[in-house]
Amino acid sequence: MSKVHVNVGTIGHVDHGKTTLTSALTQVQALRLGGKGLSFDEIDRAPEEKARGITINTTHVEYESDARHYAHIDCPGHADYVKNMITGASQMDGAILLVDATKGAAKQTIEHILLARQVGVRHMVVFVNKLDALASDERDDMKALIQMETEALLETQGYEGTPFVFGSALKALEAVARGDLDDPAVTGIIDLVAALDSSIPDPVRDFDSPFLMPIEGVHTIEGRGTVVSGRVERGVIKVGDKVEIVGLDNEGREVVVTGTQAFRKDIPEARAGMNVGLLLRGLKRDGVERGQVLSAPGAIKARTRGKAQIFVLTKEEGGRHTPFAGGYQPQFFFGVTDVTGVINIADDGVVSPGDQAEVSFDLRKPVGIEKGMRFAIREGGKTVGAGLVTEVLA
Ligand code: GDP
Ligand code: MG
Repeated sequence: MSKVHVNVGTIGHVDHGKTTLTSALTQVQALRLGGKGLSFDEIDRAPEEKARGITINTTHVEYESDARHYAHIDCPGHADYVKNMITGASQMDGAILLVDATKGAAKQTIEHILLARQVGVRHMVVFVNKLDALASDERDDMKALIQMETEALLETQGYEGTPFVFGSALKALEAVARGDLDDPAVTGIIDLVAALDSSIPDPVRDFDSPFLMPIEGVHTIEGRGTVVSGRVERGVIKVGDKVEIVGLDNEGREVVVTGTQAFRKDIPEARAGMNVGLLLRGLKRDGVERGQVLSAPGAIKARTRGKAQIFVLTKEEGGRHTPFAGGYQPQFFFGVTDVTGVINIADDGVVSPGDQAEVSFDLRKPVGIEKGMRFAIREGGKTVGAGLVTEVLA
């Protein structure tokens, strides 16, 4: 049987040991269960990746536990974590928060916890690293202190009962190099994998929520009618069910599904995660457009106003050269929906290239947006930033 696939990643302040731990995880698990162990240098050469037109440096590695296959990401810098999390480039089912035992939680530790909460990372495991760097007579006190302090930070963001594992990623790498798998530092890595296995539940597709599918394409099938295509985000739909077309200039028109297809074959029902075509009764080709959303009736409303966490690219990254103030009007790209909107900033503030900020927005046309949706911010045909909806207002 194939193992359950789970997405994780290391987060935390620069230099607390994320890349060293990533290397240790691959090496220890490769020795125990097979797979490829990677050196620090192999991981630290993060390749560039693009999401929503934005360049992000991330390294993807993989390792296994008895029950699972883990895909794990490690980013070189703080800005890459911010971009990764806001664009949703690689969404984590759970995160490994690194805290340096000699320093405790630092500025980026706090920012990453906050971002993880905002982007919907549901589960966290803490690895308190560099225990070897503490004098043995202060070790117990420091462990207790760091756990208390980090737990308090996690609790302010709603992470309760987070497991803590104490260890030394560097010592684990050294022990692996000596072939000593009984070293306590290696045990620490094994304990961490066990904590991931037990505290991050198996990811599940959402079949139970009301049906939702962003419309990516509209086609005409001769003799049958209009078919809309897209990837079902959640829920299940079958022939005979009613759906509502939401967003842009549409005021929530209801239609009946008369056919469900995948790979050009009729299927009994379209389920979350599938790429499908849905035949809609009596709908004209121009009665629906790319960028609208198909939902169970009443499940989602087209909205224009909300709040978002955004980041703005620097000039070097191809972004703006100058800051913008409230009233700025870029294009918002939600999936394939493209609308103009206004960004408002509290207290007459400005947002500079390279900044991350909490803003509110007002779209020119209603769009089926929800909390947790991501968008690209574009201006004059180029991407200048990205955002995540944190609240929908009207
Ligand atoms: P990142 O910026 O969070 O990815 O941190 P790195 O993995 O690059 O580690 C930063 C520094 O801390 C490097 O010099 C590592 O060798 C060192 N380091 C990492 N883990 C440990 C550890 O367990 N003990 C000690 N003493 N140093 C460590
Ligand atoms: Mg690193």
